[in-house]
Amino acid sequence: MTVTVPHYGNSFIGLKVLFDALGINYVIPPRSNQTALDLGVLHSPEEICNPFKLMLGNYIQSIERGADTIIIIATNGPCRFGEYASLQQRLLKKAGYSAQFIILNTQSGKKALFEGIKKIGSHSSCSTFQKMKALLLAITAISLMDRIEIKLRYCSGYEKNKGECKRLLQSCYEAVVQTNSAKDAVKILKSFKHSIKSLPLDYNKKPLKIAIIGEIYTISDPFSSNHIEDQLMDIGISTTRSLTPTWWLKDSVLKPFKLNSLSMHRAAKEYIYTCAGGYTRETVGKALLAFKKGYDGAIQVFPVGCTPEVIAKPILEKISSDKSFPILTLIVDEMTGEEGFITRVEAFTDMLERRREKCII
Ligand code: SF4
Repeated sequence: MTVTVPHYGNSFIGLKVLFDALGINYVIPPRSNQTALDLGVLHSPEEICNPFKLMLGNYIQSIERGADTIIIIATNGPCRFGEYASLQQRLLKKAGYSAQFIILNTQSGKKALFEGIKKIGSHSSCSTFQKMKALLLAITAISLMDRIEIKLRYCSGYEKNKGECKRLLQSCYEAVVQTNSAKDAVKILKSFKHSIKSLPLDYNKKPLKIAIIGEIYTISDPFSSNHIEDQLMDIGISTTRSLTPTWWLKDSVLKPFKLNSLSMHRAAKEYIYTCAGGYTRETVGKALLAFKKGYDGAIQVFPVGCTPEVIAKPILEKISSDKSFPILTLIVDEMTGEEGFITRVEAFTDMLERRREKCII
């Protein structure tokens, strides 16, 4: 068995660590790119959301590299994510690609979920104790990678040497991907996390601070979000983003106890009381938290046709006008040109600068 997984933010780092520790053969697809999108578009229904198409492209690229088993997390909805696993299975078969699916449905009860996990574990010769350790290493790796990324993206507004945070982030990805030892991967991540402390930063700087909000997959995937966070890093803007794979893991574990994302849900209550599918409440809550924390603005990014974010959009407009808090909405699809996207982001950040200088009231 050679397993593969679709890309979702930094989760591939943790999954690589997991498979290395378990001694399971795996293929990590190339990070989402135009080829993956083109392949996905070719075999997907036109109206389905972009993450679906990219994931389908990821599978095909992995199958072409020898993968025969696809592991995917699934839910029962209420947004289109609930249809992903079954539809992707059918479409791959129709397109002539052969692979079995291991579906880890987080909402079909513990039994179904553990059966999927057991199926993966049965392909490893490790003892139960070693498997638990492997899982712990994988969670540690994802959490470290997310923290490193979030910290460096925030620090880039304060860096003394232009581009140093971005270079460090890039080096971290390269170093951790090169090793096939789970323990070494965690060591590498710890050493990169430590090296952030010695970055020369100037806290007298007053960079613009922007919260990146929106659809969880799109904002976590550089290709899907047209590299918006890199672009803001390049111009010395500090960004924050709460929705990461680590956040998703915590959220999923705490959800049954209704203890998930308490701060975002509490903040969102001013405008939305209940879950409207996907992460509408988190988008609204994060925008309000960013406003309270003195951020200069927020950018909402979501793929065309994403109902939860379509619901969030007018709420964000209301927040923007009630609180005089600038929020830019960017909708992406497979036709989104990078240049038009960059122009809109630049116009928004220029406006924030002028607003700060009180040129605009
Ligand atoms: S949140 Fe939006 S983009 Fe993501 S799966 Fe649901 S509908 Fe599609």
